[in-house]
Amino acid sequence: MANRIISEEFQIIKNKYGEKIPNSYGYSLRIRRMKTLWGTNSLRTKKITINFNLIFAPIEDIEYVIIHEFCHCAVRNHSKVFYSYQQMFCPEYKARKADLNKNIHPFVVKIEAINSAI
Ligand SMILES: [Zn+2]
Repeated sequence: MANRIISEEFQIIKNKYGEKIPNSYGYSLRIRRMKTLWGTNSLRTKKITINFNLIFAPIEDIEYVIIHEFCHCAVRNHSKVFYSYQQMFCPEYKARKADLNKNIHPFVVKIEAINSAI
């Protein structure tokens, strides 16, 4: 199954950084197609939701999105403190974000358009 890549990456990151990220204990993963977000973090249900369409992205980008969402366990907003967490666990986060926006997002939009035309 294609989303096994996302599941495995989620486990790797959880094992690697879980203890270093406050409030991340007990989080589980959900994978679904989303139109406008690569990922979300629900504090209430302790679930990180990852966009299924990330299977079209390189593993480094998938890793970046999962780390980003895990960092939201510690800091809800996109403040300086949040970015210091992200910097610590994913130093190349700016390049990953740029790749998602410039390359992967347009590709996913194309795929979705083809799927809805069939
Ligand atoms: Zn965020």
